[in-house]
Amino acid sequence: MSDKHKQRLIHKHAGKPGKTGKIAAKCIECVYDPMEAGTWRKQVENCSATGCPLYSIRPKSEARSA
Ligand code: SF4
Repeated sequence: MSDKHKQRLIHKHAGKPGKTGKIAAKCIECVYDPMEAGTWRKQVENCSATGCPLYSIRPKSEARSA
């Protein structure tokens, strides 16, 4: 996979209505590395930047309450 793949993902999520897609797009832009193991969602879930304003609402692969 490539940066094009990442850009497509960002574009796809940013274009969704509502805030959820925009948050996902920002987190993908911030942390996703297509060359690393794991889906974008898993990589975002593994984000450890607890000081980030989006940390508590970042997309996760598990249920939100987990
Ligand atoms: S929650 Fe993590 S991945 Fe999302 S924008 Fe903040 S630092 Fe980046």
